[in-house]
Amino acid sequence: MEVATSGEKINDQKEDIIIVGGGICGLATALALHRKGIKSVVLERSKTVRATGAAIIIQANGWRALDQLGVSSKLRHTTVPIQKMAQYIALDSGECKQVPLGDGEMRCLRRVDLMHALADDLPLNTIRFGCKMLY
Ligand SMILES: Cc1cc2nc3c(=O)[nH]c(=O)nc-3n(C[C@H](O)[C@H](O)[C@H](O)COP(=O)(O)OP(=O)(O)OC[C@H]3O[C@@H](n4cnc5c(N)ncnc54)[C@H](O)[C@@H]3O)c2cc1C
Repeated sequence: MEVATSGEKINDQKEDIIIVGGGICGLATALALHRKGIKSVVLERSKTVRATGAAIIIQANGWRALDQLGVSSKLRHTTVPIQKMAQYIALDSGECKQVPLGDGEMRCLRRVDLMHALADDLPLNTIRFGCKMLY
């Protein structure tokens, strides 16, 4: 494995599970493994937790996943519940229509809150920032 780092040496270390990318999926995978008592290391090329994008809508299945990961309760109170109907406006005709969004919990939350909720529950040094996997 070849990894470019910003100082910290990882090439010589032995790790059983390495996750490349500390985005939502990488952090959620590392946290799921941690909840099961399995150690992993996340290599993230950025210098900090990346939280680009303002908000994210999480639907019922996402909340079930966050329940399992043990982070939903600290996130729910920061969210905005989404109405069950969306309003779509056709750009060409200007036609406006209400579309049902489906059943179940649907909430909008700040991406940065989600990223930190996942990252903060990981053991220290699980995420190695400034580590870029070279393909
Ligand atoms: C503005 C915005 C709004 C969005 N809104 C929604 C929404 O409302 N609902 C929804 O379901 N989805 C939404 N999405 C999509 C959702 O955010 C993405 O599907 C999700 O971020 C994908 O997560 P990921 O972990 O797979 O990838 P990413 O979040 O892209 O994370 C990948 C990580 O890998 C790192 N990386 C890449 N290559 C390397 C390498 N070689 N070595 C080390 N690290 C590397 C990157 O730095 C990055 O941190 C939105 C996306 C954006 C940008």
